[in-house]
Amino acid sequence: MKVPNYVNGEWREATASEWLDVANPATAEVIAQTPLSDVAEAMRAIAAAEAAFPEWRRTPAEDRIQPLFKLKQLLEHHIDDFARTITQENGKTFAEGKGEMRRAIENVEVACGIPMMMQGYNLEDVARGIDEIMIRQPLGVVAAITPFNFPGMIPFWFLPYAIACGNTLVIKPSERVPLTMKLAFELLEKTGLPKGVVNLVNGGKTVVNTLLDDPRVRAISFVGSTPVARYVYARAGANGKRAQCQGGAKNHVIVLPDADMPMATQIISDSAFGCAGQRCLAVSVAVTVGEAQQTFRDSITDAAANLRVGNGLEEGVQMGPVISHQSKDRIENLIGLGQKQGARVVIDGRNASVSQYERGNFVRPTILDNVPSSSELVDTEIFGPVLSLVHANDLDEAMDFLHRSAFGNQASLFTSSGSAARRFRYDAPAGNIGINIGVAAPMAYFPFSGWKDSFFGIMHGQGRDAVEFYTEKKVVVERWSREHSRKF
Ligand code: NAD
Repeated sequence: MKVPNYVNGEWREATASEWLDVANPATAEVIAQTPLSDVAEAMRAIAAAEAAFPEWRRTPAEDRIQPLFKLKQLLEHHIDDFARTITQENGKTFAEGKGEMRRAIENVEVACGIPMMMQGYNLEDVARGIDEIMIRQPLGVVAAITPFNFPGMIPFWFLPYAIACGNTLVIKPSERVPLTMKLAFELLEKTGLPKGVVNLVNGGKTVVNTLLDDPRVRAISFVGSTPVARYVYARAGANGKRAQCQGGAKNHVIVLPDADMPMATQIISDSAFGCAGQRCLAVSVAVTVGEAQQTFRDSITDAAANLRVGNGLEEGVQMGPVISHQSKDRIENLIGLGQKQGARVVIDGRNASVSQYERGNFVRPTILDNVPSSSELVDTEIFGPVLSLVHANDLDEAMDFLHRSAFGNQASLFTSSGSAARRFRYDAPAGNIGINIGVAAPMAYFPFSGWKDSFFGIMHGQGRDAVEFYTEKKVVVERWSREHSRKF
């Protein structure tokens, strides 16, 4: 099936000279072809969004959110269809697909509060008889570029807020997982949104560059790997656009000896191996302190060895394949590199084979112990089901691992000490902090706050930051003569 684009309220076959096969990561079956849309196709979508903007912007906020209420109902009704589609194109389990759609829906719900959230503020008599008001206005055409690992949730960090604020949108999903957004747009079509308000353009770098360079696009929201995030941020900036670019990660968890070890093990195992480790909030380095070293190593090894790996559509499967065979090769090579550079492979997920799915991209949970600080793995995002263990004598030494990291997406601590938790929250150099939490994903009414090389920009996705990002502030200073009003 050739995946169509959705431009100006219509489905159309893209103008593209190249098409990319989309393969089910568990079966290797080709399920669709993504067009690598050309410049003209991307410009068509930008033009449609530009034409729709003046009328959409004048539509009262209360009316702009009505399609979002409908969308929420439609997403709820089709949540199983989404989960199935996500599993088929991305590989994660059905339950994980459903989980990410819950997060997508939550963002739609929060954006329905735009009539309150978009309000400005004012003060009478800033000088005698002079009033000052701040109003928020939409920017115009905005664009979102999203990654493969959350095909349903991540576009919804942007879409509901962008349009509720009165902007019109062009979205370019990952070319590796085009079917989830196709389904979302089939539902968006039923919500009564005027044509051109939301547009879907499938493709790769050519579409991204067109969105970055076209002066009609005012703002860019990006989520993906750090090198591309950095590139998108720089090019958007050079073209005078605002940009929020979320990048890659290498997330640390510190396990103190006073942690509830069974709970910590369960939660950290879910974080490291859930979604086959392809989560930007996946824990990938566990720093054990003191005697937690032995107990945690034993319990996490046990948990990892017992995870059921397979096709995510099958009952009881806890971990699916990784996205592609290239990704599997890359992960396996990195495990080998870690081993060569001194780490001990405690359990080895390489060369995995799952019965009936021999062509799937499976890597089983892997644990590397004693990864030396000189190893390249220390600052390499593996993006697979691989957990590195390192050890520290105390919390200070453990925190040094976090401070040395180039990334700052998430940091977690497992402890039963309030004072250690408070110190960690205060000092940890990351934007999303977990205390006895393995995936510290902020709810839709809080910003998704990466730091360091995990984020380029100022305003993050979701919540109030999204409203700030998708609106321009205008300040009006007003004076009216009292004499004039005496006439009436
Ligand atoms: P990616 O960087 O390869 O692709 C992301 C998007 O950028 C895609 O739409 C892709 O088409 C486009 N793209 C890729 N290469 C490009 C190039 N050279 N020029 C222009 N555009 C390009 O990322 P991915 O592999 O799809 O996703 C995984 C990455 O995303 C991981 O690094 C992960 O940590 C990160 N991620 C971060 C967050 C976060 O919130 N910080 C969330 C999810 C994923």
